[in-house]
Amino acid sequence: MERSGKFIRIRCSKCKASQVIFGKASTKVRCLKCESVVALPSGGKAKIRARVEEVL
Ligand SMILES: [Zn+2]
Repeated sequence: MERSGKFIRIRCSKCKASQVIFGKASTKVRCLKCESVVALPSGGKAKIRARVEEVL
């Protein structure tokens, strides 16, 4: 079975806050708490710059 990978739960490496983001983000995603960049768009699939905790 293939995971959809539509949404992922990540944990900010800086402030340890977790949040759920879209796995194919087309814009920069920032941490809700400390505003550090947690995901960057990269050819349809987001490049995650935080710790991935779970693929939903
Ligand atoms: Zn943060």
